[in-house]
Amino acid sequence: MVERFRFKHITFKGLSMEKRKKKIARNDDRCTGCTLCVLSCSLFNFGVFNPEKSFIKLDKDDRPIRFALSIDDGCKSCGECIRACAYNVLKWEDENPVH
Ligand code: SF4
Ligand code: SF4
Repeated sequence: MVERFRFKHITFKGLSMEKRKKKIARNDDRCTGCTLCVLSCSLFNFGVFNPEKSFIKLDKDDRPIRFALSIDDGCKSCGECIRACAYNVLKWEDENPVH
């Protein structure tokens, strides 16, 4: 995974992506807690399915059946978590707001 980020531009799954630091917007109310984003992050960045290795964390909110997402400073802005989410919870901050 480290090799990929040596280049200014990388291509993944047919998409050209400039190496950059972008922020991810979240709509926690839509999150089902499926953990696909968490596992995708650890797989793409570390080659393992391990929530402890993921830059995106999932915690239970204080409300019943609600989840709270947070993203570590180590996030590489690869976008794998956004692609993994089937519920439209995650988007780049500079795109249309999640609703
Ligand atoms: S954008 Fe950040 S949090 Fe999401 S998969 Fe990539 S490194 Fe992980
Ligand atoms: S993939 Fe989407 S619905 Fe699943 S835990 Fe992540 S943000 Fe929530």
